[in-house]
Amino acid sequence: MKKVTFKKGNLQSDGLDFGRQRKFMREALLEVCSPREVILPMVQHRGTPCDPVVSVGDSVAIGDLVGVPADMKGVPVHASVSGEVTKIDSIRLPNRVSCKAVWIKNDLNRRFSTKIHPRTNVDQLSLAELSKLLWTSGICGMGGEGISTYSKCVKAEKAGVETLLVNATQSEPFLACDLHHLRVNAPRVLQGAMALGGICRVKKVVFCIEDLWVDEIDALNKAITDLRHRYLDKKIEVRLFKTRFPQGCQQLIIKALYGVELPIGKDPEEEVKAVLFNASTCQAFCDMIEKNQPLISRVVTISGDTITGHNVLVPIGTSVSELLERVPGAHTAQRIAWGGAMTGVAIKDLNVPIIKTTAAITIIRKFEPMRMNCIHCGACVGACPVGLSPYLLNRLIEIGQEEAAVSESVEQCIACGACAYVCPAGIELSTNIAKAAHRARKRGIV
Ligand code: SF4
Ligand code: SF4
Repeated sequence: MKKVTFKKGNLQSDGLDFGRQRKFMREALLEVCSPREVILPMVQHRGTPCDPVVSVGDSVAIGDLVGVPADMKGVPVHASVSGEVTKIDSIRLPNRVSCKAVWIKNDLNRRFSTKIHPRTNVDQLSLAELSKLLWTSGICGMGGEGISTYSKCVKAEKAGVETLLVNATQSEPFLACDLHHLRVNAPRVLQGAMALGGICRVKKVVFCIEDLWVDEIDALNKAITDLRHRYLDKKIEVRLFKTRFPQGCQQLIIKALYGVELPIGKDPEEEVKAVLFNASTCQAFCDMIEKNQPLISRVVTISGDTITGHNVLVPIGTSVSELLERVPGAHTAQRIAWGGAMTGVAIKDLNVPIIKTTAAITIIRKFEPMRMNCIHCGACVGACPVGLSPYLLNRLIEIGQEEAAVSESVEQCIACGACAYVCPAGIELSTNIAKAAHRARKRGIV
């Protein structure tokens, strides 16, 4: 099968030396986390914030509604543990979002809402019923984009999309939550994807995965063969990508598959009549279809330079601090990132929650790049997948020449982190450039 890819980017051997943990992605789910408390922010997505619908002192069961948005552009928030609401207060998340949050003390009884139960008529659900389930599920893009999956489907259907792309390519090395789902839950990822494809009214569903993951590709192909008879009205394909980071970025998948550069501010729905969903998102929708279970937990990859990486099933709202209690020495790490090694946000206060879009926690204990001036090695230019000159842009931004940075197309930056990942001088290129790109786009200077 012909493999597709994009130019430049990073190979797994570039950047941080996590080499010894390369095999960790093959491991089964190591454990299920049961936190003492969860913190549920009312904004875990891109869109309208939720308002809490519980009060301090209320008793909640797993799956109970905790927050609802004022319109359909937000996604509801559900209790991820059973217990008592102990606090409702403001919170500031590492991604700089400030919002209200609900604290729930876990009674450790794992009491589920009576609404969560196995569904017997899965195959008879109409598209309208599936659509309603999607809205109530609280699912948003779990690969990190955070857009309401319901809103995305509505938009895709209106745009007349023909293809649904399932993104199982990874944006970062050592990020393995989506691969985990394909390895152990391939039929569930397939069922979720086909249901989303029904709501979007597509003709074709295409699974995108990198060639390195042979076991996961086998599992996916087997699921397609086993369940093909249920989806005879749609084409189903598996497309292989060369293993290169950040392949998981939407722009690079579209470029590789369609040869089209997505213009800034444009979506694939309009440009190529395709809509992209993450593999974890598809799996989460399967939970809603089969068990009426909204999005209350997610698989998070914990990796680092001195630990054996693994995947943990985490109730949404678990604090990073509590999650890392199981990782010996994690609290003495030099740097802990809320996210992956390339695009994660460094956090000092570990009392922040895992939210619906947190795919990874990365612990850097030994390796910390030297901080020095640019040595003009060109590695960042060689890595940038959209053809920018990161060292030049960073210099222009540093000296306040943002207009000149716009002339160098700073707004094209997709915040992938590839440049900073390879920089031997430890310069925070991607953070600086992505912020300037955001400012330029906001001012409309593009
Ligand atoms: S400049 Fe932007 S797009 Fe280019 S590698 Fe850096 S973060 Fe990625
Ligand atoms: S990778 Fe770092 S040191 Fe090399 S040219 Fe880019 S900014 Fe300079």
